[in-house]
Amino acid sequence: MQPDVIVVGAGVNGLSAAALLAAKGRKVLVLETNPVPGGAVQTAEVTLPGFRHDLFAMNLGLFAGGPVNAALGERLAAHGFALVPSAKPFCSVFPDGTMLGVEADVERTVANLAAVAPEDVESWQRLTSYLGEVAPTLIGVLGAEMPSRSLATTLWKARKKFGTTGVLEIAKLALASTRAFTEENFRSPKTRALMASWGMHLDFAPDLSGGALFSFLETIGGQMFGMVIGQGGADSMINALVGVIEESGGRVVCNEQVTKIIVEGGRAVGVRTASGMEHRASRAVIANVNPRLIPAMLPKDQRTRPDVARAEEFRPGLATMMIHLALDDLPAWTAAGAREFNYVHIGPYLDDMAMTYTQAAAGLLPDSPTLVVGQPTVSDPSRAPDGTHVLWVQVRVLPLEPREGSWDVMGEAYADRVIDKIEQYAPGLRSRILGRKVLTPADLQRANANLILGDSLGGSHHPAQFFFLRPVPGWWRHRTPVDHLYICGAGTWPGGGVGGGSGALVAAAVG
Ligand SMILES: Cc1cc2nc3c(=O)[nH]c(=O)nc-3n(C[C@H](O)[C@H](O)[C@H](O)COP(=O)(O)OP(=O)(O)OC[C@H]3O[C@@H](n4cnc5c(N)ncnc54)[C@H](O)[C@@H]3O)c2cc1C
Repeated sequence: MQPDVIVVGAGVNGLSAAALLAAKGRKVLVLETNPVPGGAVQTAEVTLPGFRHDLFAMNLGLFAGGPVNAALGERLAAHGFALVPSAKPFCSVFPDGTMLGVEADVERTVANLAAVAPEDVESWQRLTSYLGEVAPTLIGVLGAEMPSRSLATTLWKARKKFGTTGVLEIAKLALASTRAFTEENFRSPKTRALMASWGMHLDFAPDLSGGALFSFLETIGGQMFGMVIGQGGADSMINALVGVIEESGGRVVCNEQVTKIIVEGGRAVGVRTASGMEHRASRAVIANVNPRLIPAMLPKDQRTRPDVARAEEFRPGLATMMIHLALDDLPAWTAAGAREFNYVHIGPYLDDMAMTYTQAAAGLLPDSPTLVVGQPTVSDPSRAPDGTHVLWVQVRVLPLEPREGSWDVMGEAYADRVIDKIEQYAPGLRSRILGRKVLTPADLQRANANLILGDSLGGSHHPAQFFFLRPVPGWWRHRTPVDHLYICGAGTWPGGGVGGGSGALVAAAVG
């Protein structure tokens, strides 16, 4: 039977769009090139049997609070999707053996701050109240199509509530760098580092415009929303989305790479796959594909159009490496309390992060990589055999095309340097390692073509390709210049992460 909608790619956004459309009665077909769905959300035993590692994304907070979970939450739960909350979402550790942690409780977080950086308690409390005031505006903007009536309504309400100056303050927050924002608000380098670490999760070194907003939301919001991971692994979210699609009559077919989008009379009508199959859709083709890769999938008369070809200008963020460890015990952090947190950030300070980013952008291997050390078994022990643990180490940021040579040659040696750095904060880590799997930036791209050169973000989030400009001017509202060809995924508004926001927006656009 001919589907109404074909979705190319089974990432979280493609699956979200398919699930929402199938739930309202549309016939959907999802085609995925990999043997399993999920894209940058996958769980597998890559070190030792019984140790389940989230290979890429682990923190499902954006999905938990996002539109897909709001619409389909009960049905996803019926397909086995459950979230495990953490009372202690993240902390930063420092060379003097101290740490600063954000807990899912304002009073406890303030007590942590009072012990390490008492001079910042008042500012912290002020920013906590400020987030409470501006959250409806920020959530409204981040959840709205760009541009749209809903966006205009959110901004109009914000102007009524905060006045023109208040709205301009929010605009300043959206454009500020983490250095400017944290220097304006905090005096301790530790509090500044705690917040700026979140900028590095995206591609915001401390001095880049646009880094403050995400850092502010994650750091201050961490007290209110905590962190959640998927029970047993992040893939439970993917499996549940597939379950909803299939019980609604849709299909998800793996091992099918789409090589061509068929365009007739200026309109996308179907796709061709590497295996020689042709599939036609009556209503729309949705590409859950990095915008940069789309022109090459189109017929020549379409891909040479200047408004189509410009998608090739879409720039990746810097690269990421993942190191997965099976451990016989958690790291023995010198700052002992760090053992209880889901994420431990190691910069340590803003200047270190700035240096790391500059070296990576210049094609050099950073001397001192910025690290996010994830400890999922702290809150979900089901991911490893009794008494043992998995460690999820994300190395942010690395060169896309290193001058020193190929990742396939240098990957393991660089991973050793990463372990050396963790050892400075958790001596003896090496002796606790039972198994290790390194995924270099080149491995990331091999696992998912959307992660160009190992860019985990599916496209840089710098202001020139964010908000109205994502992915490129003219490709907004999840449409492309080709009729009936829609696009979703990290390369589209509202950007990377597992929130499913662009999947929900494209489902609404297709109707
Ligand atoms: C290492 C890493 C860690 C991360 N950590 C987090 C985290 O903790 N929390 C968070 O919120 N976000 C995290 N992210 C970001 C988040 O995982 C991604 O932004 C998000 O999953 C991207 O989803 P997507 O819908 O864009 O699709 P993708 O994940 O890019 O999936 C798209 C799918 O389409 C398939 N595909 C592409 N081209 C074709 C084709 N021609 N034919 C058929 N199939 C095709 C691909 O194989 C892939 O499976 C992380 C990302 C990485 C890489």
